[in-house]
Amino acid sequence: MLLTPRLRTRLRIIRHRKAALLASAVSVCLLAAAAPAEPLGVGDRLYPYLGNPGYDVASYDLSFDFPGRNDKPLRAVTTIDAWTTADLERINLDFAHGTVGSVEVDGRPADFTRAGDDLVVTPAHPLHRGMWTRITVRHTSDPVSEADQEGGWVRTTDGLAMANQADAAHLVFPCNDHPSDKAMYTFRITVPNAYTAVANGLPTGAERTGDTTTWIYRTRHPMATELAQVSIGRSAVVRREGPHGLPLRDVVPSADRKTLEPWLAKTPDQIAWLEGKVGRYPFETYGVLMAQAATGFELETQTLSLFEKDLFTEPAYPKWYIESVMVHELSHQWFGDSVSPRTWSDVWLNEGHATWYEELYAEETADRPMADRMKAAYGASDRWREAGGPPARPKPPAPGQKIGIFRANVYDGAALVLYALRQEIGRPAFERLERLWVQEHRDSTAGTADFIRLASAVAGRDLDGFFQAWLYGAKTPPMPGHPDWKPQAAAKATPRTPRAQGHR
Ligand SMILES: [Zn+2]
Repeated sequence: MLLTPRLRTRLRIIRHRKAALLASAVSVCLLAAAAPAEPLGVGDRLYPYLGNPGYDVASYDLSFDFPGRNDKPLRAVTTIDAWTTADLERINLDFAHGTVGSVEVDGRPADFTRAGDDLVVTPAHPLHRGMWTRITVRHTSDPVSEADQEGGWVRTTDGLAMANQADAAHLVFPCNDHPSDKAMYTFRITVPNAYTAVANGLPTGAERTGDTTTWIYRTRHPMATELAQVSIGRSAVVRREGPHGLPLRDVVPSADRKTLEPWLAKTPDQIAWLEGKVGRYPFETYGVLMAQAATGFELETQTLSLFEKDLFTEPAYPKWYIESVMVHELSHQWFGDSVSPRTWSDVWLNEGHATWYEELYAEETADRPMADRMKAAYGASDRWREAGGPPARPKPPAPGQKIGIFRANVYDGAALVLYALRQEIGRPAFERLERLWVQEHRDSTAGTADFIRLASAVAGRDLDGFFQAWLYGAKTPPMPGHPDWKPQAAAKATPRTPRAQGHR
C-alpha cells in the first residue's frame, strides 16, 4: 500500500476490539462444545481477531451477483475448501458485514451465529483433525460501509473495486482473514451486460445469459485474502505483452483509455527493470486497475494493482513521482504478495522493500539519488520510531488514528534499514540476498526471523545484533559509512515534495 497525497484522512480504524485470546482460551473453546460462541484469532499482535485456528484453507470459490448499482448489497456465495488441523466442534470464519442466509458443511445444513467479527458455524457432526471439509455460505456482500468499518469494497463512480488490506477482506466475504493462510481463488462475477468484471488471475470464460454476463477468473498462485481484487465497471481491458510473453492486462474507464495509454505502456519496461534486480516476475499476469475513486492510497492487489485514476491525470504530480509509485506497487508483487508476511508485524518487509525499489528506480531513471532520501529519512527516523514504534514492532492501530499501521516507520523507516544492511554487508551480498529471498519464499509466507537468517547466511556471519538494533531499537543506530548522519529535530518548513506529502 502507498498513501497518496490528497488523502491522509483514510484508513480510520475506530474499532473497539476485544483483547487477544490466550492460547489456552482457544483450546478450551475448541473442546467445550457447550461454551458460548466467541470470536477467535490466530494471535496476531496487531490484529488479534484476524484469522482462526483449526483449519487451513486450500481454496475459495467466490460468486458475486452485482445488481447494476453500487449502493445495494450483492448476492454472494462463498465456498471454502479447507483441511482441518484440529478436532472442531465449531468452525470460526471472519465475516463482519452483510447478512448470512444459510451455511452448509459438506453438503449438510449447519447452524451459525455471529460473535464479534466472526461467523461461528456448528456443523451437524463435529469435524476431526486431518479431514477435507467444504463450507458453503450464502450471504450478501454490502458495498456500503458502516460508520466504523473501512476498506473492503470501494465504490467507484462506475462500479466497484476492492481494497482489503490489512483487515477488511472479511467485510466482503467469509474467510480466514490473515495473510498466513494463503489459498487459491476462483471468482464468478455476474454483472449487467454493460459492465465488465475483472479479478485476480486469468479469465477462464464468460457466460452470457440474457441481460447479464458471468465473468470467471482463476488464480494460478496462492494468495492472501487482503490481496483479492474484483473490479466491476464500465471498463476497457487493455492487453499487451510483457517480458518473455507475460500477458498483461490493464483495467481503465473506457472513456479514458486513450489518455491513460502512455502510462499503461510503461509497465513492460518496469517489469523488465525489476526482473533485472530480483529475478522473474512471480505470477501469471500483471496489470494496473485505474479506478475512479478517492481511496487515498494505491494497493498491490495480486496481479492487478489498484490505483486512483487521478494519480495519472492530476497535473501537479511530476512524471518521475508517478512512475515511482507504479514501481512501488509492482515490486510488491514480489515483496508482499508472492512472499507475504507471516504476521502484520512483518509488514516492514513489504513496505520497506517496495519503498526501496521505488527509490532505486527514481535514482536510476530520474537522477534522484537514493542517498539524499536516505539521509533525510535518517534525520527523521527517531521521530518515526517514537510515533509508530520500531520498524519490526509497529504500534497497533489506535482507535481514531487515521493511518492504521501504515506509518513512516514501515516505509522510509524500513527502507533505511535495508540501506544500512547494504552498507554493512556490501552491494554484491545485498543484491544476492534480495534475489534469494523472493526465490526461497515464493508463493509462501515469511517473517522477520527468516530474513535475518537468510541475510546472515548470505553475509557469512551472524547479523542478529545488527538487526536487533535496527529493527527493534527505540533509537536509530549509527549509519555504517555515514558517521555524519544525525537525527534531526522536526523542521519547521521542510521542502514539500509530492512524495513527502504522499506518505503522511
Ligand atoms: Zn506499499
